[in-house]
Amino acid sequence: MRDEENIFGGRLRMLIVDDIDIDDILLRQFFQDEYEIVIAKDSKEAVTVLETSPIHIMLLALNLSGMDGFEILSMLKRQDRWSALPVVAMTVAGDGDKAARAIELGAADYITRPFHPVVSRARVKNVLARRENDWYRAERLAREQQLMEMHQSLDRDNLTGIYNREAFYRRAANIMQKDSGNEYVIVYLDISCFKAINDLFRMDTGNLILKTAGYYFQASVGEIGVCGRMEADHFVMCLPKAALDMDTFLTGLDATVESLGISHNIQFYAGIYPVHDVYLPVDQMCDRANLALRRIKGNYMTRYAYYDDSMREQMLREQMIVRDMEFALQAKQFCIHLQPIYSLKEDRIMRGEALVRWNHPVRGLIPPTEFISVFEHNGFIVRLDRFIWEEVCRLLKEQKERFGKVTPVSVNISRLNFYSADLLDFLMGLIGKYELEPWMLNLEITERAYTDNPHQLIPVVKAFRDKGFRVLMDDFGSGYSSLNMLKNLPVDVLKIDMSFAQELETSERASSLMKFILELSKALQMEVVVEGVETKSQVEFLERIGGEEIQGYYYSKPMEAKQFMELLAETIKH
Ligand code: C2E
Ligand code: CA
Ligand code: CA
Repeated sequence: MRDEENIFGGRLRMLIVDDIDIDDILLRQFFQDEYEIVIAKDSKEAVTVLETSPIHIMLLALNLSGMDGFEILSMLKRQDRWSALPVVAMTVAGDGDKAARAIELGAADYITRPFHPVVSRARVKNVLARRENDWYRAERLAREQQLMEMHQSLDRDNLTGIYNREAFYRRAANIMQKDSGNEYVIVYLDISCFKAINDLFRMDTGNLILKTAGYYFQASVGEIGVCGRMEADHFVMCLPKAALDMDTFLTGLDATVESLGISHNIQFYAGIYPVHDVYLPVDQMCDRANLALRRIKGNYMTRYAYYDDSMREQMLREQMIVRDMEFALQAKQFCIHLQPIYSLKEDRIMRGEALVRWNHPVRGLIPPTEFISVFEHNGFIVRLDRFIWEEVCRLLKEQKERFGKVTPVSVNISRLNFYSADLLDFLMGLIGKYELEPWMLNLEITERAYTDNPHQLIPVVKAFRDKGFRVLMDDFGSGYSSLNMLKNLPVDVLKIDMSFAQELETSERASSLMKFILELSKALQMEVVVEGVETKSQVEFLERIGGEEIQGYYYSKPMEAKQFMELLAETIKH
């Protein structure tokens, strides 16, 4: 062993305890190149050395005068501070019994007189090497133990004590990959409106719910699966499919949470991903389960849903939409199609509605149903809407120049626009830029926008009308407002949701309601447009009950701007 290699740092010190001078001289010769040698003639001297300087190995003659080698071994063993010191016993050849006794008393090895230099060196070296290994092993064990303890806390979620996200990923992968006999599922769980619970109650209450839920999940997966907390009120479980009975599971969960006695409806919803490929990264499995969950969120009838590939395709489509949207706006890939709105009484086009289309270079014409909700999610809708409004203003100006008069066109105003302070200024800016008058540009605002945020919206809409814009309430009757609200709402036109027209023939209720809404709107001096009229019999029915304006495939589908202009030109001629 070279000095710089030893784990004790520095040159190793060897204590030779022997009272035969000639041996000492010999041993010194054998070892002095590698060790720093200290000689002690008896036990007393040996103890003094041990007490005053560090010793890494001891060569001990068994037949010493005074306290002999055996007694010294016993003493060393009894003393904690010396019990680990490696001792090589020195005896005479042929005295195997003594050597054996020394080993029993804790000597690491022995050498025999007459000492052979190579054998002696090798034995001492081996003893030290063994010691070093032991030391390393002990140290490694200690380190592992420490790491394990550290891991236990690093692996755990502080609040619930179940695994945290990273630990869950690791453990779940481990379980699934080891057990090829079972099909596993990942269950992603989330409380409906947890934020409301935190707002309504104290934080402790929220924490209590999470802890209780964590406890229930842990009990549910038991030894056969694993569960973890992802973040906030999101939990995951991984367990064999055969062990999962969702209805029983949720019933138990509801009962457990209910037993806390919190006066609020706290319900978990779940998305389930059946694992086909156990080598798929667990975070991706969780994403898929979460995707299934998001599909049912807000749908109070369904508590859980299974993932299927169409969800992933949908997500990829959405990602594509987000990736391409900026460029598409720059490159003017968005365009308007216009759908005429007819007056039944006057038998002519009263106005048109502009509907956005995405002319995608690869995917062709994409309908707004595919991207509007994505843009409403990420805020891009505000910029797209403004772009569309400007396109419409351009078209209105073209009408004015070409025909000397203007048929109004309505645009859709997504509810996100109402968070922009400069909304009205922007619209007025367009009106000015294209030398129009506000009545030419009709504004469609959905009933949903009104009910979501009436306090913020009503004054803005009033301001629109004060400037001379006409405001249409889109999708009226799609389920959010009460009739009572109508009397306070500043709107000029009600656009009755498509579902009414489509159910006229099949539902008594729909036709009675339609009749009622028409009468009501007359009383409130609002105009009414019925959307989604597709058949002659719908038109006839509407005529009978006093419907005035209709929009739908029966008269015309949405068309390109150029075509719409031609249609207007025709109408004007007659
Ligand atoms: P919406 O505002 O209710 O527009 C009417 C939708 O009904 C249009 O779908 C139209 O093509 C369709 N439609 C018209 N007549 C009939 C019919 O007889 N039968 C059936 N089945 N459908 C009919 P589109 O163009 O796919 O637009 C869907 C929705 O996307 C719109 O519903 C609107 O909410 C939104 N949208 C369209 N363009 C814009 C826009 O520029 N900005 C914003 N924020 N939203 C837009
Ligand atoms: Ca509309
Ligand atoms: Ca509508």
